[in-house]
Amino acid sequence: MGSARMRGGVSLPLAFEGFSRPFEALPLPSRLTLPLIQDEGGVLEPRVKKNETVRAGQIIAENPRPHMAALHAPAAGKVVEIVSSFRDLRGRAVPAVVIEPDGTPAQAEAPAADADPVSSAAARGLVDFDRRTPPLAGKLNDALGRGIETLIVNALDQEPFLFSRGRLLQEEGEAVRRGIKSLRALLSPGKTVLVVESRVAAVRDAAKAAAGEAAYVFPLANRYPQAAPRMIARAVLGAEIPYTAGVTVADFGGLIVDVEAAAALGREGPLTERFLTVSDGRGRRHNVRVALGTPIGEILEHVGIITPAAGGKIIAGGPMSGLAAADPGLPVTKETAGVFVQGPSEVIRPADAVCIKCGLCVEKCPMRLMPFLIAGFSEKCRFDDAERHDLFACIECGCCAYLCPVGIPLLQFIRFGKQQILARRNAA
Ligand code: SF4
Ligand code: SF4
Repeated sequence: MGSARMRGGVSLPLAFEGFSRPFEALPLPSRLTLPLIQDEGGVLEPRVKKNETVRAGQIIAENPRPHMAALHAPAAGKVVEIVSSFRDLRGRAVPAVVIEPDGTPAQAEAPAADADPVSSAAARGLVDFDRRTPPLAGKLNDALGRGIETLIVNALDQEPFLFSRGRLLQEEGEAVRRGIKSLRALLSPGKTVLVVESRVAAVRDAAKAAAGEAAYVFPLANRYPQAAPRMIARAVLGAEIPYTAGVTVADFGGLIVDVEAAAALGREGPLTERFLTVSDGRGRRHNVRVALGTPIGEILEHVGIITPAAGGKIIAGGPMSGLAAADPGLPVTKETAGVFVQGPSEVIRPADAVCIKCGLCVEKCPMRLMPFLIAGFSEKCRFDDAERHDLFACIECGCCAYLCPVGIPLLQFIRFGKQQILARRNAA
């Protein structure tokens, strides 16, 4: 088993106390807004109508393609609206179902308990919570028959100010253990590895208890972006996954599933909530479990973090690679990895700066790219040149933009280039 140290990346001070904050279950809001794109699988079709009464856990939307994830009502209530064009976090106009919870405990019948893990994951709406958020059923189905030698359960948090994965191990170890058992029964891997933050004793101990005899605990110092799948594969398998369309970790005998997905697989019932860290630049950290569809602004209000004044930012995800939420009314979806708030003085403003060719972005890019070049080509709309220099190999970690001494918004330019190329392909 390999242990290659990650090349590049950044070391940010880790606020260890975030791992000791228990999850607080937040109350339901008065309205739950559920956009019908919740994962990489694309747009879901509604299965409810306006004014229909729904039970908690009832399927409200599905993707007709096989091995996709259904969407369920997080609470019993009434469908008050089916919006045809809701502007989501990525600025896409997507349909959405709006439910007003009625406070009753009416529960839908749980999906069959004896279903195999792939069917169960699809029927229960499970996803893998890495940045791309693929439907878990599709990911597992693709892995079947691939001869997975190493199952890797990733409990490293995605960003320096997120702690929910480490906390989940401590609070939901039994569900993680059952999820690992279920994954092992499906895939029959030669070995199973549970990757955890090495510097927090409580997290390591919780990992050992959850792993039992079934998995090796693999401690890693979570230098950002160590939690990215390619970095995990490099550390655990010693494999350099080339950036070539279609090449995946499975081609090197591995499958990476994040710990929240493993825990969801080990529980019963559909996925209707997320475990999140909500934090800000002033040291406030809260771990919460929150119903899908809850407005981000209501979470902030509940934990006492003030929605920032003009010039500040609410970021869905973490400060390094998250997306700015234009409106505090935007809801939590399966794609929401966390919430981070920056006050006006903490926001780094995109500068109209010129590259001084210091080379820092190249030195620290964990994917060994030339960020100044791909960002520069993207900015100038020279998309073919950007792609020729491996634009799509960028994992959008944001290290380059964070470190650039003159403040060039490299990540924004890179995302812009990718969006333009994909839009061009879709239109062709
Ligand atoms: S180019 Fe992409 S992968 Fe490299 S540092 Fe920048 S954001 Fe990260
Ligand atoms: S870090 Fe900024 S200034 Fe330095 S080479 Fe990269 S883009 Fe240019």
